[in-house]
Amino acid sequence: MKIFEKKCPNCHANLEFKVGEKDVVCPSCRRTFAIEYDHDIVDPEVMLKAKDIQLKILDEVQDSFVAARKIRKIVMPVVLIFIAAMFAFGIFMFFQTRARMEENRKKAEEQSQQFEEQFEEQFQKAKDQFQQSQP
Ligand SMILES: [Zn+2]
Repeated sequence: MKIFEKKCPNCHANLEFKVGEKDVVCPSCRRTFAIEYDHDIVDPEVMLKAKDIQLKILDEVQDSFVAARKIRKIVMPVVLIFIAAMFAFGIFMFFQTRARMEENRKKAEEQSQQFEEQFEEQFQKAKDQFQQSQP
């Protein structure tokens, strides 16, 4: 710990004190003086502790960045695979729906053709019966 020096206000002897001490006794005249600290006197130990805390915070920030990067490394491929799977599923559904619609359209066409043929047949029968019933 750094030792500060000041002159005794009473006998001008050197007063030595460590930062943090509340009062100092003059070694020459044995009088006690309360120590008043200037704001710009900073304990080097406090400075070191503050620096330590700063470094620890920096370390933690860096750690969290590294952790975030690790998570991204794991999560990103999963997200990409999911998106690709959804995209492939969408394409599959699109083609399947189109194929089913085409199938339905063909079925409807066939049914209407059958209906037309039946109608034609029955119409022909009715026409024949009508002609036979005529004298
Ligand atoms: Zn003194």
